[in-house]
Amino acid sequence: AYMKALSLSPGEIINMIKSSGLLGRGGAAFPTGEKWQSCADTGAERKYVVCNADESEPGTFKDRILMERDPHRVIEGTLIAARAIGASLGYIYIRGEYPSALRSIEAALHDARQEGYLGTNVLNSGFDIELEIRTGAGAYICGEETALFESIEGHRGMPRIKPPFPTTYGLFGKPTVINNVETLCNVPFILELGPDAYRRFGTSRSPGSKLFCLSGDILRPGLYEVPFGTSIRRLIYEMAGGIKGDGELGGVLVGGAAGAFATRDHLDIPLTFEDLAGCGLPLGSGVLMVFNDRRDIRQVLLGLGRFFAHESCGKCYPCQLGTHRQHEILARIAAGETRSGDLDALKDIGWTMSDASICGLGQTAATAVLSAIERWPEIFYSQTR
Ligand code: SF4
Repeated sequence: AYMKALSLSPGEIINMIKSSGLLGRGGAAFPTGEKWQSCADTGAERKYVVCNADESEPGTFKDRILMERDPHRVIEGTLIAARAIGASLGYIYIRGEYPSALRSIEAALHDARQEGYLGTNVLNSGFDIELEIRTGAGAYICGEETALFESIEGHRGMPRIKPPFPTTYGLFGKPTVINNVETLCNVPFILELGPDAYRRFGTSRSPGSKLFCLSGDILRPGLYEVPFGTSIRRLIYEMAGGIKGDGELGGVLVGGAAGAFATRDHLDIPLTFEDLAGCGLPLGSGVLMVFNDRRDIRQVLLGLGRFFAHESCGKCYPCQLGTHRQHEILARIAAGETRSGDLDALKDIGWTMSDASICGLGQTAATAVLSAIERWPEIFYSQTR
């Protein structure tokens, strides 16, 4: 695919990605071709490409497995993106807690260099490209694209206010394309087999296949690749072996810590961006965290609340204060010591964070809590004092 990309013009590559309908797999589902086009259109002499491998969403492990098992594909997708937008320097930003993924990518980058796929005038194509690796230091927020730029630049990882967007003002203030690992791993397929072959999988609005990370109370947890449109039921019951133990399905946290709960009523919903959005479930990064009906959802929420309170970077008040107040209330609820007014406060905090936070962390820190209040209001009322 990289050889083909070197023989095509940047515009031809971008048109193939646009025709494929590839949507970003990091959670935002932004059209990849549009992103590349808007960066290429700046005409800036210096542009960057960044592979976002700072996968830290609880329940998500797809990028780790891609990097460990197919690192050359990650590099190939990143190189093709660089060629398409005219970047001569790129970064792969890997989560610090992924040492084996780091080793795989380092080895694959070494291989690519040995083969002459990097450097000046790559294979006499006139294309110059260098890729460098950076690792995070353990902050979830550094997976947010602008916080990631700050981290590469040597600053504390805090999100920037957008706009301007990365395609015009990104890394070191230059136009930048930043894509998730899985997104970039889709690119070689599209170049090699064409957009029509890619569109044979999935639906017209969610083309291609998707990796889903299944974990929790199921018999065969793991990473599953299915075409978009596969139902939650098929994934959980046919592919992952169903619910572990004696219990029945209690709930499924769709989309990770920033996701929302599905119930048995949602089992036949096709897993596509459009179908899930239609019923208020975010596809996010492709997490299905399954809980049987013996699980105490209040404890699950407490874990999520603790996570967001710990990971909030503190730049904006709704999230800085809201994640901690949310955590305190969830701790009381989990301990069966709910005070009157707690539920209203929890909703108020949740709506405020969703509406007024600067970045996705605060905007989604209450999504699971608010969805649990909607699905199972009774668990929040018990033992109120
Ligand atoms: Fe930081 Fe939270 Fe504000 Fe994002 S929403 S900038 S994580 S304080």
